[in-house]
Amino acid sequence: MSTDATLKERGNLFEIAQGQVEKAFQARNIDADVHEILRQPKNELIINFPVRLDDGRFHIFKGYRIQHNNLLGPFKGGIRYHQEANLDEMKALAVWMTYKSAMHDIPFGGAKGGIKFDPHAHSADELQRITRRFTHALGNNIGPEWDIPAPDVGTNEQTMVWMMDTYMNVTLNEKNAVRRVVTGKSITSGGSHFRREATGQGIVHCITDWARDNKFRMDGCRITVQGFGNVGSHCARLLCKLGASLVAAGDYRGYIHNPEGLNPHRLAEHVASTGSVVEYQGAQAITRDEFFQVECDIFVPAALELEVGEKEAKALTCKLVAEGANGPTYPEAERILHERGIHVIPDVLCNSGGVVVSYYEWLQNKRSERWDSEIVQQKLEQRMRNTYAQVRQYAQHYDLDWRTACYGMALERLQTAYAERGIFP
Ligand code: NAD
Repeated sequence: MSTDATLKERGNLFEIAQGQVEKAFQARNIDADVHEILRQPKNELIINFPVRLDDGRFHIFKGYRIQHNNLLGPFKGGIRYHQEANLDEMKALAVWMTYKSAMHDIPFGGAKGGIKFDPHAHSADELQRITRRFTHALGNNIGPEWDIPAPDVGTNEQTMVWMMDTYMNVTLNEKNAVRRVVTGKSITSGGSHFRREATGQGIVHCITDWARDNKFRMDGCRITVQGFGNVGSHCARLLCKLGASLVAAGDYRGYIHNPEGLNPHRLAEHVASTGSVVEYQGAQAITRDEFFQVECDIFVPAALELEVGEKEAKALTCKLVAEGANGPTYPEAERILHERGIHVIPDVLCNSGGVVVSYYEWLQNKRSERWDSEIVQQKLEQRMRNTYAQVRQYAQHYDLDWRTACYGMALERLQTAYAERGIFP
């Protein structure tokens, strides 16, 4: 349950996001008018809508869609189903999307949305009715050239297919032309090959680039992963393919450890059948505190935001934190990591493989094309590596930390577009 106390304790995510971007505004001396425009989202939509539950009762759900900026292209960003979803969290996540797309030079803006409820507490039929009613209530606030949702925490390909189908059903003409109103769909319903793995693979490209730059051997290195959903499980499987050993993992129900290594494929099967990593055979249950103390080389936070505070930053033994989740690290914790010589690949770069392949899915739908998995993988690798190299160079050139460098690169693109286009009227 979200309470004011927990929100206060965890910190306000929107203020944290604003603080991060503020650093880049100052460091790169970005125009004050651009600063003013980007400080707040363009549109903030809150919808309270009723849904009939399986037992016949009605329940009112609270849904959000925050559209931060669409200067460079349609609003773009995930849909989250979580009991603690709230306006400031959505605003922060929408802000990060604007900069993620702009940093990669992808013609999308930034948005985020979701519904405040626990999806684990509902049947598949209820989830379908909640999703369809929410999509209908969003109406023309989403659209294939206006605002394009995707999966995030608590949502998946099935959720996206329900959203697409609902939107298509209320569209009068050329229904197939609106398929790209969402990305992250199943392949049969118009999704892209390799979208499912894309965020995890993007993290792996960042980690292997970092390893090359730091003369670090991936073979035999030890990794720990917090969150074993879409992002965490694919990232773990792909890293283990490169010879890494997954020594600890955890999720909302608990944490497990095996210094000899966990099989990420079997663990993913266990999660698929039980909903959690806990009680996985061949591992020892540990506490959250013990998880952060496990001896490892690379830590991948891939659960929720604000999981790495000062205590966790002091406890971590790794050389690298590769941020799979959005906003997992408190600013103060990041300072501690830097002081301790632990590198951080920031979320805005590290987990951006998802939006890259979402863009490819959108393009395939627009052109009625289907690209082979190999082509998608090649394009993803090329874009991730190019952007990684650009961020490294930008950070060196202007003497910035990598997070500020990512925002700086993105802000310069946005500033140029505002300068060229001006403000209407
Ligand atoms: P998911 O719902 O598939 O998985 C979330 C995981 O986090 C689950 O294993 C869940 O048990 C765990 N978790 C939830 N609350 C937790 C808690 N309090 N402590 C520990 N673990 C907890 O979601 P996902 O799509 O894998 O997203 C994970 C993170 O990655 C989020 O921050 C999301 O915004 C970010 N992200 C996702 C994508 C994507 O393509 N799915 C892209 C970019 C960023």
